[in-house]
Amino acid sequence: MKTVLEKLDTENIDERIIKKAGTILREGGLVAFPTETVYGLGGDALNPQSSQKIYVAKGRPSDNPLIVHIAKLEQLEDIAKDIPKDAYKMAEKFWPGPLTMILHKKSCVPKETTGGLETVAVRMPFHQGALKLIEESGGFIAAPSANRSGRPSPTKASHVIDDLYGLIDMILDGGQVGIGLESTIIDMSEEKPVILRPGFVTKKMLKDICSEVETDPGIGNNIGKEREPKAPGMKYRHYAPYGQLIVVEGEEKKVISTINYLVQERRMQGKRTGVLALEETKKAYVSDIVKSIGSRHNEEEIARSLFSALREFDELGVDFIYSEAFYTPHMGQAIMNRLLKAAGYTVVQAK
Ligand code: AMP
Ligand code: MG
Repeated sequence: MKTVLEKLDTENIDERIIKKAGTILREGGLVAFPTETVYGLGGDALNPQSSQKIYVAKGRPSDNPLIVHIAKLEQLEDIAKDIPKDAYKMAEKFWPGPLTMILHKKSCVPKETTGGLETVAVRMPFHQGALKLIEESGGFIAAPSANRSGRPSPTKASHVIDDLYGLIDMILDGGQVGIGLESTIIDMSEEKPVILRPGFVTKKMLKDICSEVETDPGIGNNIGKEREPKAPGMKYRHYAPYGQLIVVEGEEKKVISTINYLVQERRMQGKRTGVLALEETKKAYVSDIVKSIGSRHNEEEIARSLFSALREFDELGVDFIYSEAFYTPHMGQAIMNRLLKAAGYTVVQAK
C-alpha cells in the first residue's frame, strides 16, 4: 500500500491536508496523526471494517479495544449511555486533554471497535490538529497508539514511519508530541470510578473531582502481580524494545555500581550494552551507550523521552539495556508503569 506523508503544522493548520485525511477516514482508510499524548492510528470508529484494518495494521490482538476520539462534548451521548454525573464533571475538568473514560456503549459503536465489550473508551484530545481531523472525518475516530503491537508508543512521526509505513494510507507529521505517555484511563461504567491505566492526569487530580476514585490493583507497579488488569490491553507485553531491558532499583550510588557491574559482565560476553540514566547521573556510567532521559527535576522531559529512548537503543543494536528507576512526584507512577512493562517486570535490586 502507498502511504502518503504530510506535514501538520499546529500553528498554521493546512485545511486542505485535513480535508484529504478526513476523506480517507470517511472512506474507511487509516490515518496516523499526532495527539498531545502519543501518535494515534485513526480509523472511523463507527465502521467495523476500519477497526478491523487497525488491528491488522498494528498486529494487535482483537480482544484489545480501541479508544474512540471525539471533538465535541455533545457527541459523547451519540456513542455512550447511562453516563454518570461524575463523568460529566471529569469531562468538564480534563477535556480536551489526556483522560479516557470507559462508559456503557450505544449500539452504533461496533463490537469490532470495543473488542467485543459492551463498554466504550472515549477521549477528547487537546491537540488542535487532531480535533480538526476528528470533525472533518465525521466525528468519531478510533485510535490506538500508532505502533506495531508490543513496540514502544510513537512520540515522533519517524516512529510511525518505522512501524507502519506501507501498511496505512496516510501519516500526518506534527513533530514531537507534548506529553509522550498515553492517556490516563478511568472506568466510569461501574459503581465506583477505577483507574485502569496511569497517565498525566493523576489519581490525586481525579480525586479532587470524585473522592471515591480507586486504582485497579492489576496495574499496580508491583512485581509478581497476580491479578489480571481490567483494561484488556494492559495484560500484554508492551512498549518493549528489541534489546532486553532491566530496571535497577535502590539507592543512587548502589544503582550506579550495580549497573556498571552488570554492564561489565555483559560486555565480557561480547554483548552490546546501553544504560538509561538521568542528566545528573549519566557521567557515572561506563557502557557502550549511555542515554540521558532528562533531568530528575524535569519529569515532563522524562515522560516525553522514555519511548523515544527505548527506540533509539534499538537503532543502535543494543542487546541489554539497564535503566535506573525514575520516581518523580507527579507522573512517576505512569512513567514507572510503562518502564516496568517494557522490561517485562525484570527488576534488579541494587546491592
Ligand atoms: P492504546 O490505544 O494503545 O492506548 O490502548 C488502549 C487501551 O485502552 C488498552 O489498554 C485497552 O485495553 C483500553 N481500553 C479500551 N477500551 C476499553 C474498554 N471498553 N474497557 C477497558 N479498557 C479499554
Ligand atoms: Mg498502545
